[in-house]
Amino acid sequence: MVKQEFKAESKRLLEMMINSIYTQREIFLRELISNASDAIDKIYYKALTDDSIAFNAADYYVKIAADKDSRTLAIYDTGIGMTQEELENNLGVIAKSGSLAFKKENESKDGHNIIGQFGVGFYAAFMVADRVTVTSRALGSDQAFKWESEGADGYTIVPADKGSVGTEIVLHIKPNTEDDNYDEFLEEYRLRAIVKKYSDFIRYPIKMDVTGSRPKADAAEGEQPEFESYVEEQTINSMVPIWRKNKNELTDADYEQFYHEKRYGFDKPLKHIHISADGAVVYRAILYIPESTPFDYYTKEYEKGLELYSNGVLIMDKCGDLLPDYFSFVKGMVDSEDLSLNISREMLQHDRQLTLIAKNIKNKIKSTLLSLLKDEREGYEKFYKAFGRQLKFGVYNDYGMNKDVLQDLLLFHSSKENKLVSLDEYISRMPEDQKFIYYATGGSIERIEKLPQTELVADKGYEILYFTDDIDEFAIKAIMTYKEKAFKSVSSGDLGLEPDADSDKQEAEEAGSKALFEQMQTLLSGKVTKVKASKRLKSHPVCLTSEGELSIEMEKILSAMPN
Ligand code: ADP
Ligand code: MG
Repeated sequence: MVKQEFKAESKRLLEMMINSIYTQREIFLRELISNASDAIDKIYYKALTDDSIAFNAADYYVKIAADKDSRTLAIYDTGIGMTQEELENNLGVIAKSGSLAFKKENESKDGHNIIGQFGVGFYAAFMVADRVTVTSRALGSDQAFKWESEGADGYTIVPADKGSVGTEIVLHIKPNTEDDNYDEFLEEYRLRAIVKKYSDFIRYPIKMDVTGSRPKADAAEGEQPEFESYVEEQTINSMVPIWRKNKNELTDADYEQFYHEKRYGFDKPLKHIHISADGAVVYRAILYIPESTPFDYYTKEYEKGLELYSNGVLIMDKCGDLLPDYFSFVKGMVDSEDLSLNISREMLQHDRQLTLIAKNIKNKIKSTLLSLLKDEREGYEKFYKAFGRQLKFGVYNDYGMNKDVLQDLLLFHSSKENKLVSLDEYISRMPEDQKFIYYATGGSIERIEKLPQTELVADKGYEILYFTDDIDEFAIKAIMTYKEKAFKSVSSGDLGLEPDADSDKQEAEEAGSKALFEQMQTLLSGKVTKVKASKRLKSHPVCLTSEGELSIEMEKILSAMPN
């Protein structure tokens, strides 16, 4: 038995790999299961064109078995296996991917489900194992071979016995150290959880012997039954992901169940969006608009993002790049075959595909919200109560850059309708002579209603939007105009409707009260810049107005902000 040496560069690369590519050790299982699935896929593709190969689905599976006594974890598959040469090339040469080569050779065949591409995933096994044994028998061969390695030092290959085609990988799990505990990778519940997290949608069954406990059958009636434990082989992955199913086959309850299973939220989602895109970029997605605000939503701790899968394998828990901040409340997942992954498959290269998917998703969310607003008003208002503030922040934060996406989604309380209305609804009711969209700002609807400043505008029969949220006025300042109408605060100096013709009369009146106004100005010095007569008042003797861009309310908010 001759020990082969890794080439010097490979040695360093392997050490680097093992210690630095992955952020989480548990990833090794995802990588080995992906390889097993690829190996089965290869038989499947071969069977498509070769009549001598039968593909009987029941014969193809992956099995995981942990043995605490021998401290080993085994992963078997009934896939295509490896010849001696392939063991040498694929496992002996780092960054060589037999799967990528296979994918290229078989490009013409449909359904690219093969996951491998970088030729490094296998070595993730050395994050948790100090010795790895791979026994494999290739399709069409009677002879099996055993590859064995303790890591960077090299590997051996010897002939071996194996009854059937496929591969068996045995990991000798590292002993615990003071800092690191490896026992978890021998625990049934932990292994099951890792499979569920990363490999739930691998298309072939992933089996495991699971220990259960049940009451003994012979317990006499009325007595406390005795329990016995038993072992049963179970398939632990769901295999067919809901997002690959046809929308018509799925009910609201199915989507709701997925939402809860995935722990996207504890509420009942208000709306789901199921996308199956086959255009410039191929992807599937299930997105949810939640009904209520997560407890940490308006805090720094909240992290936006969608789950990202590549070919059914989880790549990222929260891919933030898929969602704009203003839609950060959206939950769900995206699966695509077209992504450029980085070598650890934990991250993406920022590529065109991802940007396209994100843009696509943004448009879908917008149109879904718009149709909710149009057709399910009550639901939309519920949504708006929970996340409307986020939309307004969205307009404000980007200096109105996203106003085209967001302005139609905004709602404000209306003086006329006494309920929330959209800007579009406001505009559609405007009398022809009305030049501006009027609004009034205050802490609550009741307080705004009592504002003397609203009188003249209301008297004209014009509708007024009530801004009760701090962000409201900032948001519409970022929008500037809606359908060519500018916004105007009822407390601005010039309302755009005082009759000019009377200006002579006004001057005369002011002259008459000059002494009074001067006296008032002295008394209020530092608090107001000017005291003058106003035409806008009806039943109130006095009101405050502002000159220029900032309204009184905005000035208040700005001066309350920490510098
Ligand atoms: P990748 O999967 O990205 O190609 P890996 O390091 O995970 O890289 O695996 C290297 C190669 O080893 C694979 O491309 C494949 O050719 C081969 N291989 C690994 N595991 C198996 C297996 N269980 N059955 C058959 N071939 C395998
Ligand atoms: Mg792989």
